[in-house]
Amino acid sequence: MPAPRRNNRGNVHANIHDALTEQVPPPAWGPGEIRALEARVRSDSETPGTTPWDLLVIGAGITGAGVARDAAMRGLRVLVVDGRDLAYGTSSRSSRLIHGGVRYLEQGEIGLVFEALRERRRLYKIAGHLVSPTRFVFPAYRGDRLPLWKLRVGLSLYDALSLYRSRGHRTLGPAATRRLEPLLAAEGLRGAVTYEDAVTDDARLTLTTLQSARRHGAEVLTYAPVVGLRREGELHVAELGDGSLVRARAVLVAAGPWTSERLLGTAGRQLLSLSRGIHVVLRSEDLPLRQPVVVQAAKERRILFVVPWGARTYLGTTDTVYEGDPGSSGVTAADAEELFKLIGRILPSQGLRHDRIVSAWSGVRPLVRAASADDGDSTVELSRSHRIIETETGVLAVVGGKLTTYRAMAEEAVDRVEKALGVDLPRCTTHRRPLVPGVPLDPAELGDPGNAGNPGNPIMADLASRHGPFARDLMIRIDRDRALGERLIPDLPYLWVEVDHAIAAEGCVHLEDILRRRLPLALTDAELGVRVARPVAERLVAAWGGAASEVDAEIDRYRELMHRETGRTLPRC
Ligand SMILES: Cc1cc2nc3c(=O)[nH]c(=O)nc-3n(C[C@H](O)[C@H](O)[C@H](O)COP(=O)(O)OP(=O)(O)OC[C@H]3O[C@@H](n4cnc5c(N)ncnc54)[C@H](O)[C@@H]3O)c2cc1C
Repeated sequence: MPAPRRNNRGNVHANIHDALTEQVPPPAWGPGEIRALEARVRSDSETPGTTPWDLLVIGAGITGAGVARDAAMRGLRVLVVDGRDLAYGTSSRSSRLIHGGVRYLEQGEIGLVFEALRERRRLYKIAGHLVSPTRFVFPAYRGDRLPLWKLRVGLSLYDALSLYRSRGHRTLGPAATRRLEPLLAAEGLRGAVTYEDAVTDDARLTLTTLQSARRHGAEVLTYAPVVGLRREGELHVAELGDGSLVRARAVLVAAGPWTSERLLGTAGRQLLSLSRGIHVVLRSEDLPLRQPVVVQAAKERRILFVVPWGARTYLGTTDTVYEGDPGSSGVTAADAEELFKLIGRILPSQGLRHDRIVSAWSGVRPLVRAASADDGDSTVELSRSHRIIETETGVLAVVGGKLTTYRAMAEEAVDRVEKALGVDLPRCTTHRRPLVPGVPLDPAELGDPGNAGNPGNPIMADLASRHGPFARDLMIRIDRDRALGERLIPDLPYLWVEVDHAIAAEGCVHLEDILRRRLPLALTDAELGVRVARPVAERLVAAWGGAASEVDAEIDRYRELMHRETGRTLPRC
């Protein structure tokens, strides 16, 4: 437990901490580190007198990751546990947007939009390599619920709420709209508004946040479900699936859609409404968009996104009431049909067909229920803002919210933890310290494909977009062994060096962790993912010192997961 620092709101402490910790490479997180932590948790469990953790975070999605990073940076001893892999839940199944949320303006959620736009700005600063500003096109058609003039007014407000710090919106007539995006249907087109928002890789943002937390001393244990939680005097005691007990002075539940009575007692009853949203992925030649397009749903106050993603385009999302295990939500033919119908109205393409789907994903939103809510058949109008609650036994929980606002949610949550612990911690600094330390990459290092004098190295550019300054180290490894610079699959930008790095330094236990969340390979192409499953599994099992038979077990597990999620039966490999 850090000594209480009275009259010191943290800057001196934080700067020294920076100097000591921010210049080192990412902490290793391979089989050795994972086994050592498991052994330590077991041994602590058997020795009741050992120093308890200051904070136990339950759930390693983006919310838990943000809380762990903030708390560790303020000096707390933090343990994060997740029942599955990090980002296993909603945090690897979102629309992958860092956005203010234009649709929330229509619902009058001005505060939420303002906060999200502020957080978007902060994420550009601290996670610039993972959060890419992109121009979205929002067209209006005859008879649309939101006509062009309303879009113009809404996006003017959006610009104002972003404090005019991003490229402002522009209004285009029908001809200019089609010049910008020729795929848009001409019939009934009234024009469009273009505006800035950002795209990200949700699972990698979660991983990178957790790596930053680990760099500041937090520990993260995956595949360790909490099956019971109780209070023993001053301490909280969590029981893990293997029977180990974890003792902590404070507990914060960040279990996303799994937050329930089981973890929170009566405070968790009827707390959330679950809403399922699916995305489907097509090859870009089947829907060759130039930039993301926003599509208005015909009847509800809902919008959909069609987002170009390298050699792919993804479309989503639906918003339907869901009951059941959030981990088992999958994509049905009816879901895909709904998307094709809504999107095909303004982006007619032969490619909008079931047999063209190359992958898909399905996520469950943990939406906070209104006090007297009967959600009926729709969750569309439920607020996306978050809430922090405290149970009778002093367990804290963060529920609801968005990927975009995770840092602010975490700051508020750690302030509550500070109160619960009764100590004076340094102030939050997560908004100004980059997730990946090191000297930022210079544009000259990346080059520019259009500049004959310095066209750059496309491998470096790909690596930089996922690993930030650490891309330099990965390039050095490729220079030593050229095979590591080869792509796993020719038309997708993921490299063998990243597989080895994932196994050694990104906390992977199972094959699905690598192919589904460290690299979004399974999402970009489920079947192609299976083709490389064997060599990737062989590397993973070898690193863990496992028997050859475990390779097949890993592949079966991965095929089963992808079948559940995409509804497709993948070939054997
Ligand atoms: C379809 C869809 C699209 C979205 N699009 C966007 C978007 O574009 N932009 C945006 O800002 N937001 C978006 N969101 C919202 C955003 O994705 C979520 O708010 C966010 O990911 C929630 O993160 P979380 O960490 O709270 O929950 P999760 O990511 O679900 O994490 C919870 C974790 O808790 C673990 N867990 C559960 N129970 C236990 C237990 N007993 N013991 C240990 N661990 C446990 C789970 O394994 C899981 O890893 C979207 C959501 C959906 C569903």
